[in-house]
Order: sequence, then C-alpha cells, then structure tokens
Amino acid sequence: MRPLKQSTATGEADAAPPNSQPGTPSPVVVALPAHTHLTSTLTYLCPPACEAGTLVRVPLGRRDVLGIVWDQPPPDETPTTGNTPLELKAVLDRLAGCPPLNAAWRMLAAFAARYYQRSLGELALAALPPQLRDLSSEQWVRRLSRLQKSANSTAAAPASAAALDAPLIPSTQQQHVLDTLAAAGAQHKPVLLFGATGSGKTEVYLQVAQRLLASDPAAQVLVMVPEINLTPMLLARFTQRFGEHQVATQHSGMTPAQRLTHWLAAHLGQARIILGTRMAVLCSAPGLRLIIVDEEHDPSYKSQEGARYSARDLAVYRAQVETRHGRACQVILGSATPSLESWHAAANGRYVRLDMPDRMGGGRLPHLRLVDMAQQHKGAVLAPALLAAIGERAQRGEQSLLLLNRRGYAPVLSCHACGWKSHCPSCSAYRVFHKIDRTLRCHHCGFTERVPRACPDCGNLDIAPIGKGTEQLEEQVAALLSDQQRPDGQGLRVARIDADTTREKGSLEAQLARMHSGEVDVLVGTQMVAKGHDFRRITLVAALNADSALFASDYRAPERLFSLLMQAGGRAGRDAGLSHQGELWVQTWNPAHPLFTALRTHDFERFAQRELADREAAGMPPFTYQALLRAEARTQEAAQAFLAAARDAARQLAGAEHLTLYPPVPMHIQRVANIERAQMLLESDSRPALQHVLTHWHEHLARCKTLPAAKGLFRWAIDVDPLAI
Ligand code: ADP
Ligand code: ZN
Ligand code: ZN
Repeated sequence: MRPLKQSTATGEADAAPPNSQPGTPSPVVVALPAHTHLTSTLTYLCPPACEAGTLVRVPLGRRDVLGIVWDQPPPDETPTTGNTPLELKAVLDRLAGCPPLNAAWRMLAAFAARYYQRSLGELALAALPPQLRDLSSEQWVRRLSRLQKSANSTAAAPASAAALDAPLIPSTQQQHVLDTLAAAGAQHKPVLLFGATGSGKTEVYLQVAQRLLASDPAAQVLVMVPEINLTPMLLARFTQRFGEHQVATQHSGMTPAQRLTHWLAAHLGQARIILGTRMAVLCSAPGLRLIIVDEEHDPSYKSQEGARYSARDLAVYRAQVETRHGRACQVILGSATPSLESWHAAANGRYVRLDMPDRMGGGRLPHLRLVDMAQQHKGAVLAPALLAAIGERAQRGEQSLLLLNRRGYAPVLSCHACGWKSHCPSCSAYRVFHKIDRTLRCHHCGFTERVPRACPDCGNLDIAPIGKGTEQLEEQVAALLSDQQRPDGQGLRVARIDADTTREKGSLEAQLARMHSGEVDVLVGTQMVAKGHDFRRITLVAALNADSALFASDYRAPERLFSLLMQAGGRAGRDAGLSHQGELWVQTWNPAHPLFTALRTHDFERFAQRELADREAAGMPPFTYQALLRAEARTQEAAQAFLAAARDAARQLAGAEHLTLYPPVPMHIQRVANIERAQMLLESDSRPALQHVLTHWHEHLARCKTLPAAKGLFRWAIDVDPLAI
C-alpha cells in the first residue's frame, strides 16, 4: 500500500552514483501522493553548505524529480530509517542561481500540510510553478539569465513617474484607517477592514502598500482576490499606481511560462507586489511585509480539491510566521460583508476592526424593494412593478442587473403524461435544458444529449421545461421589454453573462466591455457578475430567486445570500452622479424573513449578531471546529462502510472524547458520474483535539480502506474547516 517509503531513495544503493563527494544526509521533500506518506521526507546526501530551502533534483525510483532540501528534524525526532548513510543516494544538482525558499515559507508549507492533512511533499511542490519541475538544467539557466536581463533593463529605465497615477487624497475615513494602520504597525494583529462597497477600500490598499514600499526597499506586498475574473481590474489599478514591472501575478489562468517568470520575479524580490488568487498565498516572497485579502468572505478562497486550504486563513498564519522571523508583516482582510469567522475574531479582540461605512462621493446604498411572490400572478417571471422599474431606468439610459443562480433554459424537462423527468443516468441530478443547442446537459458530469423529440418513456410529444434558468430569463425579459426604448430611440438590449456565455477565453472581458460602454441596458447573469465588477451605470439590481438559500440545508447559505445581495446591491448606484438612488429588488415568498430586515437597513452588524447567536446556540462554527471525511466508491454501501469503520477507529484515538463523531451520510448530490459519495462529520469545540485526532487517524484510514465491506472504495479525503456540509 505504501510504495514510497523512506527507503525508496536509499534502497537501491547499487544504482546510486559512486559516493565520492562528501555530503551530509539531509531531508529532502519531494512530491508524493497524498495518503502514502503524510509527514516523512526522504533522505539524500546533500553537497556541503546546501541550505534548507534549496531547490534540488534528486533521483526517485527511475526518475529525477524536483525536491526541496528541508530543515533537519530536531535530534529526538530523527526518524529511524534503518539505513546506514552508505546507502544514501546523492542529490543530482541544485537549481543554479535560485536562492533557497526561506524559513518562513517552509514553516507556512509545513503548517498548511499538517493542518489540512496532506503530505508535505504534495503541498510544497504543488505551490511551485510546474516549469521548475519540467525544465532541463540548460533551459533553466537560459530562463534565469533572460529574466535577469529584463530586470536590469527595467532598472536602467525606470517607468517615468509621470506615467503613473498619483494617489488620491484620502477621505476622512480612509485617512483614519491609514493613520490607525500606521500606528498599529507594532501591534500586528490582523486587521479586518469593514468597508461598504465603494467606500474606497482599494485606495486604502494602494496607499498602505505605497507607504510600505517607500519605507523599505526590500519589502513585498501580497494582494489576493477571490476570483480570477477580478484580477484584471485590480491589476490595472496596481500597475497604474506602481508600474507594470513592480507587479507579479499568480493565478491559474497563466501559461506555465508566465507562472514561472512571475514566480521568479517574486522569489528573487524583483516584483514588489504579488497579486493573485488563492494560490498566491503560497508564493515565495522573501520580503513579504503586507498581505491584503480583498473580499475576504468569499468562499472561493477555500480550495475544493487537493489540499483543501483556506487561503484567507493561511494568509493570517503567514503574516504571523513572517513576523516571527523578524520582519513585521501586517495582514488586512477587507470586506463589506465579512465572514462570520473574521467578524467573530474581531469581536473577541483577536483581530482589529476598522470601519469605513460611507461610500465615496456620498453615493447612497441602494433602497431595498421586496416583492412578495405570494401576491403575484402564478408563473410571473418578473413582478409587473419590477418590470416597469427596469423599463423606466433604461429610458433614462441607466442599466439593470438581474440575478438568477441557475444557468441554462430550464433546470428540468418533464413529461406531463407519465411524469418522466430529465434525470442524468449517471448522477442523482436532473439534466438541464439548454435551448440554444437544444440539449440536455448534466452540470455535474457533463453528460450531454440532444433533447428527445418525444418522451422517452411514453412517447408523449408534449415534454415541457419546468422552472427557469438565465437563458430563459434573457429571452423572456427581452420579449417583455420589446416595446420599450432607450434614450436614442432604439429598442432595449438585453444580454446575459454566465458560465455558458463565457467559456471562451476573452469572452467575459468582451461582454463586460459591452456593459461598461452602455451598449447593454439589461444584464441577466448568475452570481458571477454580482461580485466586484464596478458597473457605473447600474442603478437597479434584482435577485429573482433568493429563497433557495433561506431554507437550504447548508447553514452557511444565509450568510452567503446576505453577502451576495449586499455585494450585488453595491453594484447599484455606485456613480453618485446619477440622479436616482439605486434599488435592490428581491423577489421572495418570505418577505418577513429577518435577513431582509437587516438588509433593508444595510445592517451587516445586526445580521452577523443574529447569525452568530444562532450558531453559538446550535454549536456551529465559528464556535466549534469541523472536519469532514469524504469517501467515493462504486456503491453507497462501500463508501459508508469505510466511513463507519473510520468512525470506530477515530473513537479509539486520544482526544476523541472531545469530539462529536457523526454517522456517515450520503452527500447532498449522492451520485456523480456513477460514483457514490458519502461523508462523515467530526466536530469539536477544541481545535487542538480535532487536529490531534485527524493527525493520528491516517494510518487507521489506510487500514479501513482494505476492509472487505469497503471493497469498491475509490478514494477518500479529509476536508478541514469545510465550507459546505
Ligand atoms: P471599494 O474597494 O471599497 O469598493 P474603491 O476603492 O473601488 O472602493 O473606491 C470606489 C470609487 O471611489 C473608485 O472609483 C475610486 O477611484 C474612488 N475613490 C476611492 N478613494 C477615493 C478618494 N480618496 N478620492 C476620490 N475618489 C476615490
Ligand atoms: Zn412520458
Ligand atoms: Zn451527470
């Protein structure tokens, strides 16, 4: 079961190069699969003066792989390898000209691996750009010298200051935040910047960064955004302020060559600012002194595969580690609707909260208009009052944004004669009807078929869509508004942005540009457009199907809905120059819900307090800590048998008395692509107890996997601090 033991590198002594050069046995971290080797490193002979953090190539089995020389374990923890040093293989070579990854970075990687229950090698190597692994030595040397040359040429001709944007004169509340940050410098608690949308948080980030970079020539700043779609916008603001060559980026949309170039620029200290998505939190930045996590509440900061880390939480940890290594590092978490975790941390003094309640230019937050769906005609897409409001705004040259969290034309097709529904044969879900190419598509496994002419079960010709997706909404809104005109006398233009319309590279940018130029009057979209984009001319935002979140089984759904609506509302009326106050319309069957009461007064505090009180009463995060063990198997029985055995094993472990171990249950969507999925929840009010059990659980899990009842188990994974249960 464990092919890659400590001895893999050492057991083939005869294949090793003659051990002529002197060397020190040193731990080297290489990428090993997740469950085989949780903590161990391999031991190689390293050339003298090969510091921890050095990137090296080492022989592993029949291959040469990239490795990172790691710290010598304390003497009492030295693993007993059973091998004499004579058997050790030697490091093949170092990556010439590449400085070691520093101690703070190594601690970050080690912590992340330990906390999120992944192997150190997997986590640490995955944090490096893939080309480091793939380039030959010659290619590597060439790349490095090219980078050096371009760095020298830009240093010789620094961007002229005139071409850069000057800082804006801070508003009173911005100045207050800047002053407090300067004064709090020595304190180094994480700062929660609680600022309304449009209050000028980004300008604060820019100025804090500017001040730091001016005061410390080696300092670096890490700026994180939740989604790749939001990087171009923020990148533009940073490059306009600091110059293109100061900024490196890290996100999954870059080519491998770009990833390496930008990573190196950060690693070598040439880039002063590193801007990216969650992966950027693991970027090497030896001068790191400031970390900014914008829209810190966003669930996208939590990785949903591999090591399921929270980049926000790692950012907070990283700032501590950097500070402990001698360079004070400040972390700023910014949001108009902070996560309840961060809110709670600020409430109990672990974080410092700084408020910016007012929008720049005095733009008022939008007025909430609730539409009681119980009062509407059955089947109405949009309430007549809402439709009229959209038309009016378009006539004035203002834009509206309609949000619906379902793409496609209709979520299900059905036969009224026999009850047939468009189930996916491989998943416990319906296939969605897409009218544009008349297909039924499964959004879980991708299975796609032409829409049948007649009901596959009874032959009835009358199969009909049930419910509405964005595609249908776009069509119906266009029809309903077809008699309306823009100020230029032309008909209204309705457009749609969702995952279907933005599949091609560059298409999102093109569609956003149409929106910005005012070509489009009404935009229909999924939550993809609700975040971050700065649409100046939108004065009306409508959420058409908000209720699904109010009664979802996921206890975080209300938090997400509130923040989505606040964010979306924040799109409305950003431009105070437009005469009319923005409006946020919500169509709901539950207008009396307390969430809307808080939303009406833009009162996040009130919402957060109530939500936190509920969570505390129910013993949920952030008052307790959770982890999930997920299993995927050929049958639901096998998945659950594995989980049940794992649960029994956990009960025996020290610390388990502080845990609640819930019985295994099928996942919300139980079957995807013919794989059955189940999970079990572990919960504790002691984070150390939970961590202790998780750490010691792994060897038992490997055993549970081999039980006869668990035959057909494909894989399992632990998710620490899961976002969705
Ligand atoms: P947030 O990030 O909080 O949503 P932004 O930083 O994007 O807000 O600011 C909103 C708008 O106000 C932007 O157009 C920005 O250029 C402008 N702005 C921010 N700070 C100032 C300032 N001090 N003076 C003038 N305009 C400002
Ligand atoms: Zn039928
Ligand atoms: Zn499917």
